[in-house]
Amino acid sequence: MAQQKRDYYEVLGVAKNATEDEIKKAYRKIAIKYHPDRNPGDKEAEEKFKEAAEAYNVLHDPQKRQQYDQFGFNAPGGGFGGFDGGFGTSMNMDDIFSMFGDIFGGHGFGGFGGGQRRTQQHRGNDLRLKVRLTLEEINQGVKKKFKVRKDITCSHCHGSGAEDGSGTEQCPTCHGSGVITHTTQSIFGMMQTQGVCPTCQGLGQVIKHKCHECGGSGVVKGEEVVEINIPAGVAEGMVVNVPGKGNAGRLNGINGDIQVLIEEEPHDTFIRDGNDLIYNLLLDFPTAALGGEVEIPTIEGNKLKIKIENGTQPGKTLRLRGKGLPVVQGYGSGRGDLVVNISVYVPRTLSRDEKHALEQFRDSDNFKGDKQTRDSIFSRFKNYFS
Ligand SMILES: [Zn+2]
Ligand SMILES: [Zn+2]
Repeated sequence: MAQQKRDYYEVLGVAKNATEDEIKKAYRKIAIKYHPDRNPGDKEAEEKFKEAAEAYNVLHDPQKRQQYDQFGFNAPGGGFGGFDGGFGTSMNMDDIFSMFGDIFGGHGFGGFGGGQRRTQQHRGNDLRLKVRLTLEEINQGVKKKFKVRKDITCSHCHGSGAEDGSGTEQCPTCHGSGVITHTTQSIFGMMQTQGVCPTCQGLGQVIKHKCHECGGSGVVKGEEVVEINIPAGVAEGMVVNVPGKGNAGRLNGINGDIQVLIEEEPHDTFIRDGNDLIYNLLLDFPTAALGGEVEIPTIEGNKLKIKIENGTQPGKTLRLRGKGLPVVQGYGSGRGDLVVNISVYVPRTLSRDEKHALEQFRDSDNFKGDKQTRDSIFSRFKNYFS
């Protein structure tokens, strides 16, 4: 009680005029750092965690924030300190955890081992898979089948964990509440801390006779073939989340997810640049000089005729709009471009006749580089190095 409370803005490390978003971000950072799952048994971390939760609870609510700004901790109506508004009552951990829902998006702390969650249902762990895709598959989107080894619902007890439908009874340790309270002597006096009941893991109920197949967990190791839709346009390093296809939750709990890490196979014709595809076209010298038509491959497997103007220089790029890769659903729409980089091939070997023909042009001014070309090469390289 006598302990001096730190200013809420100071706790979160934000300015007095911080936006709601800044407050949220700051809190998120602290909450992750000091989360009890990450700092088991660390009292100081737990205090910091609670302190930040309390600060956030006040500052993210415009009305409470305004009161706090005006009156500090002595706001009318009992002041701050807890969810009930009672002065000095520290926040209950359950309240803090339930507050995560709106900040971390429903999932709570799935990624943190999850031992601390106060959910009434068990959630299976997530599975992680890798998939290697060709650019063609990425272009189209693809269905992939995986045989995965994971926790599946026990077929003997249908996930209940109970033998022969024996059912459940009230947990003898916590008498059905799912939580146990420890009372410890500390320098501030008697302290009460609450924790999840280790006997029933917070469910409040225990199984009378455990299923002999799964030992009462309701899940067994098994194999399942899962089909996963990979949307078009994904890229190396992206993770596609497939909800509910991960490990089954104990006792008919909630299934975990499968996270699929995307790997991309290099392509022999195209280079990927975001949603654009780059194609290096090696143009023969007569076509570059005279102009004409050439065929360009597309990722769809078709050929596309493009017009080459006479006097086309090496280094020229053509952009074929919308012939690149699709944008991943939800990140926009449309497709990238197909960018054609033109190089011009100078023959390495020549027949006697060809040689003779070319000799004729050696002294022609048309075959010597003009100022315009020189300038354009110069500026291209200048840009390149600056
Ligand atoms: Zn079973
Ligand atoms: Zn219990």
